[in-house]
Amino acid sequence: MSSIAKNYKRRNISFTKGKGSFLYTHSGTKYLDFVQGIAVNSLGHTNPALVNAINKQSKKLWHVSNSFKIPEGEELARKLTSKTFASAVIFQNSGAEATEAAIKVARRYFYSIGQSKKNRILCIKNSFHGRTIAAINASGSKKMTEGFGPKVAGFDHFEFGNHVELKKKITNQTAAIMIEPIMGEGGIKVIPTWCLKEIRKICDNKKILLILDEVQCGIGRSGKFFSYEYANIKPDIVPIAKGIGGGFPIGAVLMTKKVSKAMVPGTHGSTFGGNPLAMSVGNAVMDEIFKKGFLSKVKSNSRYFISELNIIKNKFPKIIKEIRGVGLLLGIQLHHDQTKFIENLLKNKLLTIRAGENVIRILPPLNVNKKEIDMALKIIKNVCKSYNN
Ligand SMILES: *Cc1c(COP(=O)(O)O)cnc(C)c1O
Repeated sequence: MSSIAKNYKRRNISFTKGKGSFLYTHSGTKYLDFVQGIAVNSLGHTNPALVNAINKQSKKLWHVSNSFKIPEGEELARKLTSKTFASAVIFQNSGAEATEAAIKVARRYFYSIGQSKKNRILCIKNSFHGRTIAAINASGSKKMTEGFGPKVAGFDHFEFGNHVELKKKITNQTAAIMIEPIMGEGGIKVIPTWCLKEIRKICDNKKILLILDEVQCGIGRSGKFFSYEYANIKPDIVPIAKGIGGGFPIGAVLMTKKVSKAMVPGTHGSTFGGNPLAMSVGNAVMDEIFKKGFLSKVKSNSRYFISELNIIKNKFPKIIKEIRGVGLLLGIQLHHDQTKFIENLLKNKLLTIRAGENVIRILPPLNVNKKEIDMALKIIKNVCKSYNN
């Protein structure tokens, strides 16, 4: 009997070892892991560069309070800002903390310029921004908020893709629009680049902030460091987490200089956020992702993977409805519930994970190789074949 509460429906399988794209059970059974902790192990399991970084730092210094300077964090913040729109960073420990911090930054910005009435956040209905009380209310999904008491005020919602409704929902109290450029949990729903461009324009016209939640789709997952880069726009605030720690818990909120001015001493904090151990791992992840050719490899592997998945889709149109995604944030949408299909993939030693709209999420490590992609394709095809019989 497990003493862990049942808030997860766990599969009856556990692992004792991981290496690159693979996981191993106690008895040595090998699985191709295309979940990677849900886009967390961006460089695969026990990546030597990360093992080295954590080993080295663990012998020097683990944790000091944020009331002292932390050079490892200064370095990671410098890396994050030099590669992106941002000029300031606040470190956290998780995605939900990062999205909450993003909301706080947006509100505090308007407060600091004497417009404290502007404090409402406009989000896509049934999006995903984490599991804290505020974040579930931002997500606006009944499944997540039900039974958790009074609604947290200050959130409005619009339906995915409905720009008319989006414009209508903006009032003189709206501080920011917060969206995932690629909705991960929701079913790998990609917001088209023209749409992101339009939303940026709307924000400019209405003088509100644009928060892009890159917790799942960021850190190279899309083939660019941030997925919004495909739209050639600049956000005001970006929460990140998952991939930046490569398996070590790190969250952060990135912001422009303009809004960062509002975050004066005492406005926000985190005991663990940005500690030397976490930061040294984050620095190693950044160095790997920005190595020459790394992101172009993600893109070429993605092109190959998507085109091969579409070939399978065309062979089995009664099973697969659509192939979705960008980079290595991919989804196979089925016509019917995906539970059984995911189980069959697992039986064939391929690990995947569900998302909304009958989607099977495929999240290989960013440094996956073609041979491993071929292994996955073969398993997916075989499972499709077994359905046709
Ligand atoms: C996973 C996720 C979060 C929450 O991250 P946690 O680390 O689980 O708190 C927030 N936003 C998006 C888009 C996510 O995918």
